[in-house]
Amino acid sequence: MINHPRIVRLEDYEPYIGTEAVDRILAKAEKLRDLHVVNVNSTYYGGGVAELLGSMTILMNQVGLKTGWRVIQGSPDFFSITKKMHNALQGGEINLTERKKKIYEEVVYENALRTHLIHDVVIIHDPQPLPLITHYRKRGPWIWRCHVDLTRPHPGLWDYLRPFIEQYDAVILSIPEYAQDLRTPQLFFMPGIDPFSIKNAPLPEAEIEERLAHYRIPTDLPLVVQVSRFDRFKDPKGVVEAFRLARRQVPCTLVLLGNVATDDPEGPEIYESLLECQEERIIILSVQDTALVNALQTRAAVVLQKSLREGFGLTVAEAMWKGTPVIGGNVGGIRYQITDGVNGFLVNTVEEAAQRLVQLLQDETLRRRLGAAARETVRQKFLLSRNLEQYLDLFAAFEARFTLRGLPG
Ligand code: UDP
Repeated sequence: MINHPRIVRLEDYEPYIGTEAVDRILAKAEKLRDLHVVNVNSTYYGGGVAELLGSMTILMNQVGLKTGWRVIQGSPDFFSITKKMHNALQGGEINLTERKKKIYEEVVYENALRTHLIHDVVIIHDPQPLPLITHYRKRGPWIWRCHVDLTRPHPGLWDYLRPFIEQYDAVILSIPEYAQDLRTPQLFFMPGIDPFSIKNAPLPEAEIEERLAHYRIPTDLPLVVQVSRFDRFKDPKGVVEAFRLARRQVPCTLVLLGNVATDDPEGPEIYESLLECQEERIIILSVQDTALVNALQTRAAVVLQKSLREGFGLTVAEAMWKGTPVIGGNVGGIRYQITDGVNGFLVNTVEEAAQRLVQLLQDETLRRRLGAAARETVRQKFLLSRNLEQYLDLFAAFEARFTLRGLPG
């Protein structure tokens, strides 16, 4: 007999969400047993969507839904265009030429040809694979799950994407502020974190020390940490500036840990541009080490996620779960996680970030109080089990409209 490694079970959430919630979710899942669900996005690694899908697809399978995950492939120019779209959806500029549209639509069509989707429910993530829907005969609902900060999408780009979006049966956005003028029904699901992953489960002190020592991160002074993809909307330069102002009053060390998603061609350039900020007390790391993320978020005196746009910001919930106070940019999904002064701080400028850094670094009692409230917030609102239940409710609602299972093959 093969011994499989143990996977996370919904029952494992019981200490955090209670028996009643576990039973309720399992009962909902039972009604959808064997439902065939597929997720499609554009990267297996890097960024919050891959992080979420990694845990969510396993959890859905564990509760009985046959849930898959496909990734579209594309040439570098395809990903350069889709990254520009991503930026423009978050309010940036884009020169949307016919050539760009042609490459975008052609690559998605090629992916459609080699991706056979015969599932009961299809969930398409973000703009990269959005036009896939035009190439299939629908057998059940198609859902577009857009994870980006849609506070002010570029109007021209939105007009171009709208005809694709409106072919979907539902659109899921992270928060109500992102609602758009669309014919398609819109729902709002915030993501959640997996408390049992290597990134989020308690890490023994000795392992934290070992990880930090491995990367020669000094621990003699308090650590200020940002963990983010190398992306201009994460404002890493702003983080460095705020740190430089704060350390005039409180000595500390900054660690900026980042990575590059496989569908993001701008990352390497952002990383290179940060290297000039590097010095003894400003450590810029580009490594793919999940335990290091955990070690830094756990050990940090303060985590500073000073994003300028943020669809949700899993890194905020991850740090809060570890009882670490987070100073977050006052934008997008971060505002739903942090209540200013209660479980962290929200800031609008580099100067405000610096002030809050100094305040927190000088006041251990405040750090403890905000950190404890932060962990409790995540327990109540931002665990993956809540997001799973929202999906189950949505699938059940669709069951009433479509006959999802038992369609002729
Ligand atoms: N992340 C990581 N290593 C890094 C930087 C980021 O594992 O060096 C992870 C981070 O822990 C989080 C995800 O990437 O799980 C980023 O998700 P978030 O929602 O914060 O931002 P996104 O990258 O999706 O914009």
